[in-house]
Amino acid sequence: MYFENMSENTVNPGNTEKMIAWYGFTMTVPQDWDIGAFSGNYDNGYLRIDDRFSVKLGIKWQTFKKKPNLRLVVDNFIKRIVKQFKFGKKAKPEFGAIRWIDDTQWTGVEQIGFKIVHLKKTHLKFEGVGFHCSGCNKTVVCQLYYTQEEQPLMLKVIRSLRDHVQGDKAPWAILDFHADIPKEFRLDNCEVKSAFLQMNFSAGKAKLRIARWGLADVLLRKMPFYDWSKGVMKSLYHELAEKAVQVDFRGHQAVELLNYKPVKKSFLSKGQPEESLNIKLWYCPEINRIFLTEIRVDGNDGIAGKFMEQVRVVCHEQ
Ligand SMILES: [Zn+2]
Ligand SMILES: [Zn+2]
Repeated sequence: MYFENMSENTVNPGNTEKMIAWYGFTMTVPQDWDIGAFSGNYDNGYLRIDDRFSVKLGIKWQTFKKKPNLRLVVDNFIKRIVKQFKFGKKAKPEFGAIRWIDDTQWTGVEQIGFKIVHLKKTHLKFEGVGFHCSGCNKTVVCQLYYTQEEQPLMLKVIRSLRDHVQGDKAPWAILDFHADIPKEFRLDNCEVKSAFLQMNFSAGKAKLRIARWGLADVLLRKMPFYDWSKGVMKSLYHELAEKAVQVDFRGHQAVELLNYKPVKKSFLSKGQPEESLNIKLWYCPEINRIFLTEIRVDGNDGIAGKFMEQVRVVCHEQ
């Protein structure tokens, strides 16, 4: 019961918080925590959350065909750590249900708390919790890194952790970026940098791209936004630059193209279903960013437009 001495009432009240959302996982963390590493996909993956100085949280998830033996999953995880940190025979694993998780939203979720301490080098200590969610069939092992003073904070973060989304939309939130998109979209690949962030999703025949440019004032130093946006449009299809319409979006300069059918010039595309394209590009001076959402769907049933309405990318407004 090594988590029991965690208590919420000493959480630093000065901390401002934010949400991190990734592959259905959501959690509330201090403002200076963010994504440190990621790999995998919806079924099997890993996410690491760091503060400015070090690792705070590692979340590893797996999906098995049959409900796994949770203890075995946790045992395997421990074995890997023991090997990685060369514990030899000096590892002392402890297991136990974690009461502070029981009385929160994780009620009903099968869980095993664990701690591994090196018998001699007691600073080599790893602890966390493994759980299996019957709602989404994910088996998750969370590893927690915190100092004695950070215990209350870690408790708060872990209590906020959810492993799958409720409702029709999934949030994606990393760095200063936040989007809510229909939850059937799966992330295919992404590029995460503070100056440029891009996420490519797909759902059946629909493809969704969300991009965000930082330092917009630098990008727009030599040309106004509308000219700049033409370059982006041209990079997709040459003809788009002249077709996009200037609109007002949240009070910002924006260009958009709705239910557009690109002219197919390649003979390779003969016989392919017609593609329908929806693009919106806008400049938010309040946070000095440019955003793009682009949805393309094979076929012409208006679904691209429907998805476009459902995707919400946050800019200056929350
Ligand atoms: Zn779940
Ligand atoms: Zn804005």
